[in-house]
Amino acid sequence: MKTLIRTFLKLILPFFLIVLAYLFYIKTATLSQPQLDIVKLAPYPILLIGALVSWKFNRSREFFILIILAICLAAVTYLPGIQGGWPPVQTRDVYIVIGMVIPFNIAVFSFFKERGILSLWGGLRIGIILLQALLAAWLIRPEQQKWLAMINQNFLPVNLHTLTPISQAALLLFLAAGIILILRQIRYKTSQDISFIGVLCAVFIAVHHNDAHSMMYPVFFAASGIVLITSIIQDSYSMAFSDELTGLPSRRALKQDMMKLGMNYAMAMLDIDHFKKFNDTYGHDTGDEVLKLVASIIKDVTGGGKAYRYGGEEFTILFPGKSITEVVPHLEQLREKVSKRAFTLRRPGSRKGKSSSKRKKRGSRSAGQKQIYITISIGVSQRSDKHKTPDAVMKSADTALYRAKKKGRNCVSK
Ligand code: GH3
Ligand code: MG
Ligand code: MG
Repeated sequence: MKTLIRTFLKLILPFFLIVLAYLFYIKTATLSQPQLDIVKLAPYPILLIGALVSWKFNRSREFFILIILAICLAAVTYLPGIQGGWPPVQTRDVYIVIGMVIPFNIAVFSFFKERGILSLWGGLRIGIILLQALLAAWLIRPEQQKWLAMINQNFLPVNLHTLTPISQAALLLFLAAGIILILRQIRYKTSQDISFIGVLCAVFIAVHHNDAHSMMYPVFFAASGIVLITSIIQDSYSMAFSDELTGLPSRRALKQDMMKLGMNYAMAMLDIDHFKKFNDTYGHDTGDEVLKLVASIIKDVTGGGKAYRYGGEEFTILFPGKSITEVVPHLEQLREKVSKRAFTLRRPGSRKGKSSSKRKKRGSRSAGQKQIYITISIGVSQRSDKHKTPDAVMKSADTALYRAKKKGRNCVSK
């Protein structure tokens, strides 16, 4: 339930920020000119902070999109009207270019793997951006009207100009970028893609509004910057507090939650039996798959416990407000569940090992498949006069775990 709420919040946060931006945009009608001047400049520091944050966290996708947003915003604000010996650049032409550049880059950069900013790959992206800047600078020159008119013409057999001033080419790019991001979101479930969907919506609203004198551009570009910054912070938070391999809360989360324990609690330390031998026999990758399987079982511990990956093949479960007597049946149940869960070893040629909850009959196994069973040992302790601090309770649970190993493993020891 808690994770469901968290996922929901993660999904709606960018759109919530965009709604806030819209409310703020309406409010700009009542602002004075000096205040409006500040609002007009506000996106630049926000986008710059975003670029610095994404640099620090090695998020090149956000970094380059933020840079592009800043360049586009400056172009839309300052380019129209510049004379420089030529006839002035038309606002409409800048819109046409921006409406294409942003969705195009969001779409293209989502195919790039994270390979750093100051790397060969980062350089390639800088090259792509510079090339586009040159192309855009050439396109918006008043002499190139015929090219712009070509881009701006209707490709589709419908006339959408009554609905939006955005060109059909740009609409198709927005649509393509949106579909790519939604597919990525379904596949990878990171807050990164959802934040880019937010940016795409914000930019679409700004370009659709098509008015250089309104506050639409600064407000929605600033909102895009904030959406990307919040997603980076969200992801780094979950990276710091959850274990990458198993998805369980990490040791850091455990240390924090240990400080919140009250006067009564039980704590269990779990350790996979003979895991070194398992690794040596089947390889480290299969070991990792088994760790994930065991973690997924431990995660569903009953009796009010919360599981953490302590490190390696060791796990910790906290039972706030519980005593040893109360939690032992749940730990026994957990131990039994792990011992009965078969792990199907990969067939040569297949990519991953697969778990199955039922023991299959020998005859039903296909050739090359092998089922193995894993056991865990558990030590449990509770807060008492002898063990007053969470650290002391943990130490005592660890000693109990040692006893469980000595007793022959696959058992719970107090
Ligand atoms: P015991 O029953 O006494 O616990 O024996 P054991 O072999 O499990 O104990 P030991 O602590 O000596 O070995 C733990 C092994 O767990 C060492 C290492 O190979 C393996 N291991 C630790 N972390 C990981 C991991 O993230 N992935 C994989 N595949 N193996 C790991
Ligand atoms: Mg160990
Ligand atoms: Mg072990």
